[in-house]
Amino acid sequence: MPEQTHAHFDVVIVGAGLSGIGAAYYLKTRCPDRSFAILESRDAIGGTWDLFRYPGIRSDSDMHTLGYAFKPWTAAKAIADGPSIREYVRETACENDLERHIQFGIRVLRAEWSSEDAAWTLHATKDGVPVTFTCNFLSLCSGYYNYAQGYSPEFAGAADFAGAIVHPQHWPEALDYSGKRVVVIGSGATAVTLVPEMAKAAAHVTMLQRSPTYVVSRPAQDPIANWLRAKLPAKTAYRLTRWKNVGFGMFFYRLARRKPARVKDRIIGMVREHLGPDYDVATHFTPRYNPWDQRLCLVPDADLFDAIRAGGASVVTDTIDRFVPEGIRLASGETLPADIIVTATGLDMQLAGGMTFAVDGVAIDLAQTLQYKGMMLSNVPNLALTFGYTNASWTLKADLTAQYVCRLLNVMKKRGLRQATPRLRPGEVEAEPFLSFSSGYVQRALAHLPKQGVRKPWRLNQNYALDVMALRLGSIDDSMEFSNPDPERRRKAA
Ligand SMILES: Cc1cc2nc3c(=O)[nH]c(=O)nc-3n(C[C@H](O)[C@H](O)[C@H](O)COP(=O)(O)OP(=O)(O)OC[C@H]3O[C@@H](n4cnc5c(N)ncnc54)[C@H](O)[C@@H]3O)c2cc1C
Repeated sequence: MPEQTHAHFDVVIVGAGLSGIGAAYYLKTRCPDRSFAILESRDAIGGTWDLFRYPGIRSDSDMHTLGYAFKPWTAAKAIADGPSIREYVRETACENDLERHIQFGIRVLRAEWSSEDAAWTLHATKDGVPVTFTCNFLSLCSGYYNYAQGYSPEFAGAADFAGAIVHPQHWPEALDYSGKRVVVIGSGATAVTLVPEMAKAAAHVTMLQRSPTYVVSRPAQDPIANWLRAKLPAKTAYRLTRWKNVGFGMFFYRLARRKPARVKDRIIGMVREHLGPDYDVATHFTPRYNPWDQRLCLVPDADLFDAIRAGGASVVTDTIDRFVPEGIRLASGETLPADIIVTATGLDMQLAGGMTFAVDGVAIDLAQTLQYKGMMLSNVPNLALTFGYTNASWTLKADLTAQYVCRLLNVMKKRGLRQATPRLRPGEVEAEPFLSFSSGYVQRALAHLPKQGVRKPWRLNQNYALDVMALRLGSIDDSMEFSNPDPERRRKAA
């Protein structure tokens, strides 16, 4: 089938989630003369916050840092539910007249850069029909996981199980779990969200984990934020709370890396305070790794611990032998009876929305590139990729990335140059894995991800304050090659 050719834009943003809408806001306000489109494969704004519909879906970081720098989060709860976050993203798009820039139902599959045209050609599909777009700059806000499929290992005997098996990424709207026995497999953010929420209606919910995770309780409402909002204009209060939370997060992260034993003791001590002296915290809430080797799990107002104390939920730490008709048989020989099994086993991590790339006819293997300033790729021109922090809220980095893209576009325009390429010479810097997390979803994906270098600008900062300095104030020419003069300008100059 011939490809239908669509319009040309100065900038194309892929994805209409939290990052894509933020990127569009900055483009509109900081590069108002640039045309842009947002291509979104789904039929809705919101990305993650529209896709995930499991009971209790919520943020696990505070909305003062998960929200945009330019739009105060004004609800009383700092740990927000999914629908409120979706509404916040939609409201941002609506208030800034961004919806008319979104083209829904467009899945971008491949991007090909031509230095001659100083443009990307994007090959996409709309309702299965091939379509193409061209743009001078490509801003990927396509998240970090496979939308089509969550990660679920093969469980022996799965076909024998008599009840329903559900993955949180594909939650059936009509699933009725009231009065049912539920087993949630997993110990990550999704599992600790689901367990207390489902326990409100289920007969019993068991969280079945192979090994424990650090679980930290935090108040859903931030009293300081709410006090500041009552006393100060919304923007000032929001800014102060944002920096307070950034500062606290950085302090806690540094402490955890420098004094892991002390932080470990404190976290486990707090769990003990919640669950009482008779609970087996050593088995169920004492991880084998150090704090921040993996993301910590946050529970608002100790809801998970309350559900356990009330008897509606319990934790089993064991290995699955196989699924059997009546539930799950464990390596210990015990069988966990279940009517519903939820496989909260994680995401299938994927960068760039599964797209493939070529630069001047040469295929790009993402795994052979080095990331540049946490947002571009070595020797790949005019392309930014939004990827948030692992130790702080995603949007802190997404905001900085979007602002940097605008800065770059404005410098290119001023210099009359159409191409900006993070230039890496062979052997210039030693490469390391993109992320140092030991989590399963990271380890499974590492071989396909770009690498990072051991020094800047190829090093990936997991530090907002350092990034603010580097991206807002640092040199834009730092290993960045500006080239490819605008022919019109060259002609005039001749
Ligand atoms: C359940 C859950 C809870 C989370 N909670 C937090 C939290 O509390 N704090 C935090 O910091 N982070 C959290 N995260 C990470 C979270 O994904 C980010 O915070 C944030 O929502 C990412 O926004 P995004 O716009 O970059 O990506 P996404 O929300 O993933 O949106 C990407 C968009 O791009 C579209 N897209 C992808 N590929 C293509 C393609 N090829 N063509 C066209 N469109 C495409 C998708 O359809 C989607 O709409 C959570 C993630 C999950 C899954």
